[in-house]
Amino acid sequence: MINRITEEQIQNQREYAAKVRMAVNAEAALRGAPLKFCVVTYGCQQNEADSERLAGMLSDMGYIKCVSEQDADIILVNTCAVREHAEKRALSVTGQYKHIKEKKPSLMIGVCGCMVSQEHRLDDIKFRYPYVDFAFGTSYLWRLPSIIYERMKKKKRLFLLDAEDDGCIAEDIPVLRECGYRAWLSVMYGCNNFCTYCVVPHVRGRERSRYKEDILKEAKELIADGVTDITLLGQNVNSYGRGLYEDYGFPELLADINALDGDFTVRFMTSHPKDATKKLIDTMAECKKIAPQLHLPLQSGSDSILKRMNRHYTLGSYKELVAYARERIPGITLTSDIMVGFPGETEEDFEQTLTALKDIRYDMVYSFIYSRRKNTPAAEYEDQIPEDVKGERFRRMLDVQSDIGLKINEGYIGKTVRVLCDGESKTDVSVLSGRTDGGKNVCFNGKAKAGEYTKVKITQARPFVLIGEEI
Ligand code: SAH
Ligand code: SF4
Repeated sequence: MINRITEEQIQNQREYAAKVRMAVNAEAALRGAPLKFCVVTYGCQQNEADSERLAGMLSDMGYIKCVSEQDADIILVNTCAVREHAEKRALSVTGQYKHIKEKKPSLMIGVCGCMVSQEHRLDDIKFRYPYVDFAFGTSYLWRLPSIIYERMKKKKRLFLLDAEDDGCIAEDIPVLRECGYRAWLSVMYGCNNFCTYCVVPHVRGRERSRYKEDILKEAKELIADGVTDITLLGQNVNSYGRGLYEDYGFPELLADINALDGDFTVRFMTSHPKDATKKLIDTMAECKKIAPQLHLPLQSGSDSILKRMNRHYTLGSYKELVAYARERIPGITLTSDIMVGFPGETEEDFEQTLTALKDIRYDMVYSFIYSRRKNTPAAEYEDQIPEDVKGERFRRMLDVQSDIGLKINEGYIGKTVRVLCDGESKTDVSVLSGRTDGGKNVCFNGKAKAGEYTKVKITQARPFVLIGEEI
């Protein structure tokens, strides 16, 4: 049985939110202008989804959203801990807020998320960033109203690491979504896999699935709200339902979502190869509303490295699954996460990764340089790879993948694809951008508006994007 935060506890937070709202509204009346919030997000899709809940709670407390931190009365930094780089960026931006606070002493600053779910980082914030008002780990997210209320009232700074009820699921938290037609939908939280390089199980706690009824209810609400593209989230969606149901898992959940009324597409991430089954692929093949897209992180092409990463699959078993997916779902978009420079990775191991890339031929790869994470086993391995070797392997891998991505994308030239338009491209406002049903990036000339589906004829290809004209 999965524990949940009780309705009474959720109601209690609503009451705190109402108290904060009274104070916020009173201050706004005095000023003759509303109070504003800004949530700054680092890291993965789960963090983006969490930030939409932080924003939902802040709106509920009477704050209105603003884009620039300079205008905000409250700033929340939602941090990531997967790599050192992400932590450094979050720390550095938090450092810059000192200047904003000097000019505006009433500004409240909070730091939350994975980075501060680690004791040493929570202490860093507490002792080295004295102008930060509060920081809290991932298990405190739904308690934002009481945290803000306490800070307003007692003037004491708050630093909260692990809640007693860490591992419980909180339902019915307000959400303020970034986009009207694309939405995240978490199906599970946490991770039990303990890959030896990864900090996620340490900062997000044990794996727990939401009840299917709660997920289906949320999916229905999203569809009724006009969302047409739903991404199901979990660190390993393939273990959905474990410890909760006997014979109901992720394929069954996919089929149930597919059966909901409405015109929409469902995609999901992430699928751990050790638990991805033929049944999953069959379900994808049979269900019309499931996108022809699979993100299946390989990490390394060397079996001995995979073993030391604690990944529980081999390159051979992985390739078998990919072959089956391509047979059952022709044209499927296949993407992966690849890491270079894991401790002990020899030149030979690395070349096996390059060979795997050439054999498997991914549409796109998210590439990572191994980063040593405190409290993970791999951080203690003796044979750490020097930074220059990691950097050189990283560039070689990008070169190989870039060629493959380009070749695959060239295969689209002359074809017409359906695209969900996202409006002006972020990098070039003279063109529109969007994604295919398989999730491939497209830049195109045309008149479609954000949220509309359109047809685009592909005329050119780049390694990471298709280019075309709306027809
Ligand atoms: N649950 C997902 C991954 C979540 S983290 C899965 O198992 O596939 C996203 C990616 O970050 C991982 O796939 C991995 O490639 C990368 N990553 C995780 N820890 C890392 C580390 N210590 N250094 C570098 N990259 C890392
Ligand atoms: Fe990290 Fe592995 Fe869990 Fe993914 S499956 S979150 S890589 S421990």
